[in-house]
Amino acid sequence: MDTPNIVVIGGGSVGSFIAHDLSLRGLRVTLVEKGNILGGTSARFHGMLHSGARYAVNDVNEARKVMEDNRVISDIAPHCIEDTGGIFVGLDNDDLDYASKFTAGCNQAGIDVKDIELDKLREREPFITKDAKIALGVPDKVINSFRLVTSLMLTAKAEGARILLSSEAIGFETEGKHVTGVKVRDSSGVSTLKSDLVINASGPWIGKVMSEHLGINSIDMIMSAGTMAVMERRFTKSIVNRLRLPSNGDIIVPYFTESIIGTTAFIIGDPDNFEIDKDDVDFLVEEGSKMIPAIKNSRVKRHYAGVRALISSSSDGNGDRNISRDFKIFDHETADGVSGIATVGGGKLSTSRIMAKKVGDFACGKFGIRDESKTDSIKLTWPELKEDNIEEITKKTGVSSQILKELISETSAKTYSDLYSPTMDLVYSRMLFD
Ligand SMILES: Cc1cc2nc3c(=O)[nH]c(=O)nc-3n(C[C@H](O)[C@H](O)[C@H](O)COP(=O)(O)OP(=O)(O)OC[C@H]3O[C@@H](n4cnc5c(N)ncnc54)[C@H](O)[C@@H]3O)c2cc1C
Repeated sequence: MDTPNIVVIGGGSVGSFIAHDLSLRGLRVTLVEKGNILGGTSARFHGMLHSGARYAVNDVNEARKVMEDNRVISDIAPHCIEDTGGIFVGLDNDDLDYASKFTAGCNQAGIDVKDIELDKLREREPFITKDAKIALGVPDKVINSFRLVTSLMLTAKAEGARILLSSEAIGFETEGKHVTGVKVRDSSGVSTLKSDLVINASGPWIGKVMSEHLGINSIDMIMSAGTMAVMERRFTKSIVNRLRLPSNGDIIVPYFTESIIGTTAFIIGDPDNFEIDKDDVDFLVEEGSKMIPAIKNSRVKRHYAGVRALISSSSDGNGDRNISRDFKIFDHETADGVSGIATVGGGKLSTSRIMAKKVGDFACGKFGIRDESKTDSIKLTWPELKEDNIEEITKKTGVSSQILKELISETSAKTYSDLYSPTMDLVYSRMLFD
């Protein structure tokens, strides 16, 4: 057989890691993304590369998996990470016995957890409430998803993958019960991409893609939206979590120069049609200010919501908090008798690489290819912007040399939080189109 031709639907963190994984294994890959870079949840998340500590009491196996990939992603994509560290704080009225379960879970999952003395905590994080009674440090980090996904796409492109942005999968071509291609609409019209296998990695849209275009309704998923409030400034060096079972409004992430408080969780029916309840924003500010009182007197700059596709049918009435954050590959050949297509859903941005590795193993298994994933060791591409390549990048992107010079002065800033620049996003998305 010729080298298999795989079409990946969805250019979020999962689809982009899949394109990277499969092209490293030598397969022919085309990724179609209906929006621009980051059209879905990977742009509307909380900004954390989890250490797994959040899951250490409820699900040690999940916590271990997350920690392992925290190390791998930090190694292959250092330019996407700010190593802030995370602090779990227990307050006056919290169940402080939870701390020992938390420490035991972290130890079991291989997560480095350290007691932080309260005077050291106040020295490092002067804005944290005086009600803090206990603090534990873990290796949570901040991750820039735009950089991650752009780097994955650039790297996959260099490995031979085709990345088609603004290209929506609007249907499938079939021969009997076998999918042979994807109908794609872009600015020039509708065309068909031939495929030996399609991977549906469209995040919260996985169910919609299968039901609307193939009449398959077997994906057992719940869509849970979460609101986040963005505060006008950064209050802490570290990510601050409440030391208790995962709940709403219990994490504050210092993201570039701002702080993101999140999240809430509410079940929705359609990722394209739901509303954010303004009370959620007030709730987040209220909860956030229990950990950092200064939040109460600060401005909410904006708010947004992302949608999780949770793979489970069981909820116990506690919103979505007790539904697993694990992921699943749906083989539609065995589940629905339709071959040539599979779906992957669930998980977290922090576990996207592992998800892609499993999808890669699954795809290679279909074609009898014995090839291991290499994504744990290949460093991701991120073009350096330097004085001596300004001319070349101006030619490639059409971005003026003046703007590029300003960007260079920004990138020489000392702290990562100074680096954010929407113009930088523009430069790299243009490079990708090139
Ligand atoms: C509120 C909230 C906070 C979160 N915070 C964190 C966090 O801090 N850390 C963490 O690790 N995880 C977090 N997560 C989880 C994480 O964001 C997601 O698991 C991850 O981003 C999902 O990536 P994805 O690629 O599966 O989906 P997406 O990023 O949604 O990508 C799917 C893509 O498919 C495209 N698409 C859809 N339909 C089509 C079509 N027909 N044709 C072509 N393209 C199509 C969409 O445009 C989209 O870009 C959070 C989730 C939520 C909801």
